[in-house]
Amino acid sequence: MMKVTQKDSIFQLTFFPSWFPVNSYLADEGDALTLIDAALPFSYKGILKTAEAIGKPISRIILTHAHSDHIGALDKLKALLPDCEVVISARDAKLLRGDVTLDTNEPQTKVRGGVPKPGTIKTVPDREVSEGDVVGSFRVVATPGHTPGHIALYNEASGVLLAGDAFQVRGGVAVSGQLKPFFPFPAWATWNKEAAIQSAIKLVHLSPTLLGVGHGHFLTDPKTVMAQAIRQAQVAEEVVKR
Ligand SMILES: [Zn+2]
Repeated sequence: MMKVTQKDSIFQLTFFPSWFPVNSYLADEGDALTLIDAALPFSYKGILKTAEAIGKPISRIILTHAHSDHIGALDKLKALLPDCEVVISARDAKLLRGDVTLDTNEPQTKVRGGVPKPGTIKTVPDREVSEGDVVGSFRVVATPGHTPGHIALYNEASGVLLAGDAFQVRGGVAVSGQLKPFFPFPAWATWNKEAAIQSAIKLVHLSPTLLGVGHGHFLTDPKTVMAQAIRQAQVAEEVVKR
């Protein structure tokens, strides 16, 4: 039920790999591990088991966004690892509390996807971040679109980009919001397609060497496929002409 794929110091943990793949990542930061996204409620077992096998403690949890398949094991992990620092964008901290109202300066499209009902998530984030903040070995890249406060994590030194649901790989590489019939869920859960395209452009300009997303396998040297997916999205949304 869980598959682990290692690329250098990044471990990709895939739950339900064959039918609804949901990824979490453990990044080896030297003395400790950073968990990126908390997958599904039962995933805490596999996450802790993998950390134990690596032989290092999890000192930090970063959430790319507040959808249910990225925060599922959060409360359980925070209860078991109370010293662990929980990090999310200031904007999606609001979603984590179950508040789906939009800020006045945002596109007024409806927040979609599995957002927790008010009060269901007990964990209060220890740190709220925004564009450019440094968390462990990663820099925060604000990538609104899938949710208003979606973030990607970029490691400048290694070129590793953990992009949450800004892109999907399962069912075909796509920018968030672009429907892939064999894996339509990320598109159905996307708040604003135009913002998602702008964020995807920002990510391709980083020229990452490795891309890890919420749904689908690792992509090595992903720049060309990311650019293709952006072009497809721009044509589909008529941002550019065919
Ligand atoms: Zn999502």
